[in-house]
Amino acid sequence: VRLRERIDGSVPLRRAVWRVRRRPPGRAAPPPRPVGVKLELTYSCNLRCGFCYTDSPRHTLARTPDLSDDAWRRIVDESIDLGVIEAVVTGGEPLLRRELALETMERLAAAGVGVNLNTNGWFVDDGMADRLAGLPALTVHLSIDGATPELHDAARGVPGSWRRAVDAAHRLLERGVHVQAVHVVTPDNEHGVEDFLDQMWLLGLPAVRLSPVGQVGAAARSGRWRVDPSASRHVAERFRREHGTAMKVRVADRPTHSLANIDRQAPAALLVRPGGAVLIDSLHPFAFGSAPRDGLATCWERIRAGWRDPRIVEWGRGIRSAGAMHELALVPYRDAEVDLAPGAEPPPEAAVEPPRLPRVAPPRPGGGAEQARSHVRDLALARRYRLARTRCSAEPGGGRYVRMVEAGRVVRLNPAAADVMDACDGGTLEDALARLGARYPGEPPARLERDALGAIRDLQGRGLLRPARAPAGVAPGTAGVEPALDLLDL
Ligand code: SF4
Repeated sequence: VRLRERIDGSVPLRRAVWRVRRRPPGRAAPPPRPVGVKLELTYSCNLRCGFCYTDSPRHTLARTPDLSDDAWRRIVDESIDLGVIEAVVTGGEPLLRRELALETMERLAAAGVGVNLNTNGWFVDDGMADRLAGLPALTVHLSIDGATPELHDAARGVPGSWRRAVDAAHRLLERGVHVQAVHVVTPDNEHGVEDFLDQMWLLGLPAVRLSPVGQVGAAARSGRWRVDPSASRHVAERFRREHGTAMKVRVADRPTHSLANIDRQAPAALLVRPGGAVLIDSLHPFAFGSAPRDGLATCWERIRAGWRDPRIVEWGRGIRSAGAMHELALVPYRDAEVDLAPGAEPPPEAAVEPPRLPRVAPPRPGGGAEQARSHVRDLALARRYRLARTRCSAEPGGGRYVRMVEAGRVVRLNPAAADVMDACDGGTLEDALARLGARYPGEPPARLERDALGAIRDLQGRGLLRPARAPAGVAPGTAGVEPALDLLDL
């Protein structure tokens, strides 16, 4: 185990093992067209995370300008013309540029591109949630760093941000949007990961991602971020044993693996920074031109020709471990990217002022774990569902055969699940609990709640139940195609 841990922590050792076993690189050459694109609409952010990989708190303070809306519209059109199938809309906080972000996602979705939105949730009000719910194949990656405001707000640097994020999750879930909570695990919050998973289960999240800090950007400036890499896996495994797989818990790969392969795995996607620089991904500090100056197609051709440029290979070989990234002379986001395009000059496009930030409320006590749980429980209890079109045939004892008319499938439900289904036909978890309480009067309320939650998740998974506010005919997103693109790995 010790040897394995040493190998997993060391980039050169990991490379040596792969050489001996003749394993990676997986992709030896970039495809003719990029498969995906990551669009960083702004550097600015309303939060102040000390581990921010894009170094947004510094860019926000320095008021770093972003590309204009028109420049972004052209980039989106070029991405669609280039044939991308998956896109990430991110920042900073992309919803600070509210209309641009929505228009970008709507154009991409209308072209059939799968869209992933990275957000801290602060700006997801009812109007925003309604627009997002209308987007097919959307997955929202929502940052939540703990089961209490104390944990989350301390990590995110702004009081009230936990409440905003949890309420955003609820607004999206009640409209049927696919939401993945992303928890950045640090030495300050790793003790709370188990409670966090329980809370996300109660809230109704379909997916959670536990991610270590990527030591670039602000994290490469200061802070101690290293956590025991196996601890999150153990917690996730325990959760799976207790609750099954209805809520998918993904533990992000050790960063060592992608870093060890950084100069050998051919890129498949593009990243466009807020100022227009085009890079391979978030882990490289080299640009291949500027989107407004050169166009995305030219930048992609440069990437295909130059992704193993000796300067990149030499830089990649200097990485000793994920925790030592900050020691490099050139760190993504902390340092200005190096443009490898011939005769590179600053982009000609006029840049716009960064978005205005909301006023930040003064610090206030978070209320602790009990109050946080009670808030999340209230949200879960109040969510309303509706039933798909069905025909049913009753069994003796309360069980039922149910035919889903549109899907053409038949499922068999036990009496408790049938009760929950009936209660949720226009009703809520609270209604389901009342039904189960009447059927099983001696059962402890906590057990009934657990069973009802499990049944609702199961019925949703089978396509029998949907949140009542989900628009008809809009297919929710899934977890994206992360392994192919690594677009979301930071
Ligand atoms: S990590 Fe995300 S939420 Fe935090 S400052 Fe950076 S962009 Fe904002």
